[in-house]
Amino acid sequence: MKVAMWKKMLWAIKGNVSHTNLTNLLHILHTYHPELPLDSRTLLDTSFNIKHVSLETGGFVYFGIKYCLRNLVSKYNAFSGVLDITFNIDGLPLFNSRNVQLWPIWGKVANFESPFVVAVFCGGAKPSPLTSYLSDFIQELKHLLKNGLLFSEKTYSISIHSFVCDAPVKAFLKCIKTHNGYSGCERCLEPGEYFNGRVVLTGILAPKRNNRLFRMQLDEEHHIGISPLVDLPIDLVIKFPIDYMHFGCLGVMRKLINVWLSGSLRTRLSSSKTKEISRRLESIKSCIPFEFNRKTRSLLEVSCWKATEFRTTLLYTGPAIFRNIVDMTVYEHFLLLHCGFTILLCKKHLDNLGSLLAKQLLDNFVKHSETLYGRECLVYNVHM
Ligand SMILES: [Zn+2]
Repeated sequence: MKVAMWKKMLWAIKGNVSHTNLTNLLHILHTYHPELPLDSRTLLDTSFNIKHVSLETGGFVYFGIKYCLRNLVSKYNAFSGVLDITFNIDGLPLFNSRNVQLWPIWGKVANFESPFVVAVFCGGAKPSPLTSYLSDFIQELKHLLKNGLLFSEKTYSISIHSFVCDAPVKAFLKCIKTHNGYSGCERCLEPGEYFNGRVVLTGILAPKRNNRLFRMQLDEEHHIGISPLVDLPIDLVIKFPIDYMHFGCLGVMRKLINVWLSGSLRTRLSSSKTKEISRRLESIKSCIPFEFNRKTRSLLEVSCWKATEFRTTLLYTGPAIFRNIVDMTVYEHFLLLHCGFTILLCKKHLDNLGSLLAKQLLDNFVKHSETLYGRECLVYNVHM
């Protein structure tokens, strides 16, 4: 009987049958099959309650992880194995004129295309208290990590791939110093020093942080509280990766271009050279393949560039559009960054060349950054 029930359930999900139609059908069938439930939510095991919670700074609704995962497993016909989930939490301003923020918790299972929303907070400031915002999420996740997900008479193991967030949100979730403060590096014990109005991280050889150090809060300067995430059985350092979108594309690549456009006179590009780079960017626009999210556009619009445009510059167009325009030293310094990222982002290159070469290239990039652009450029993104 159980198998028959699951088959009906899959038929309803795959056919996108609405809850109303399914409930109506169940009422008709009930005379002949009294063993069937009368409500579609019972049949689909979706009788979950969307939980509304009021916090000090706003309110949030919690949809749940289990419900989303069951729909995904059915949609993508996943038959067995581990559901490896990446989570993302970020704050989004809703309006220009009013301070209303949306803080969704997103999830995405590896090899499944569609992301899913676990919860959404809306309020005038970031979610507070953090413990209440994450409470349901952490409890459900702990249960899933321990017991797996039961669906269609199969149990799927759950694992956490990572939490991908920008630096301010990482600091918020982990209850640590912000990235622009002393002892703010979440990967090493480099304390940072004050230079020209900012904290710079000059050393690259400081001892690494690890999960044990983090949980024991051995570096008191790093922590500002106890993160609710310590309840999860995960490595709280490694599971927050240094993602190249935030640190590489929106971080270092954007910084380099900004320094060339408006930095110190020593490395600033002349107006004619800036125009030439923009001309090149416009001229290759029609040659950008459709796989790229956006076509190249002029440096006049660089303040509006998205992460994907900095990525195209870093990985593909940069070596051509900067060649013979920026000084050779600056150009070769950029190539260290370009080659380091290109290796790390390609399995074939990693297999052929190894990650050590990428590390050496990026270490050299950081070392020469100070010589070329001054100590003030050794900010958090460059250090990371
Ligand atoms: Zn560090």
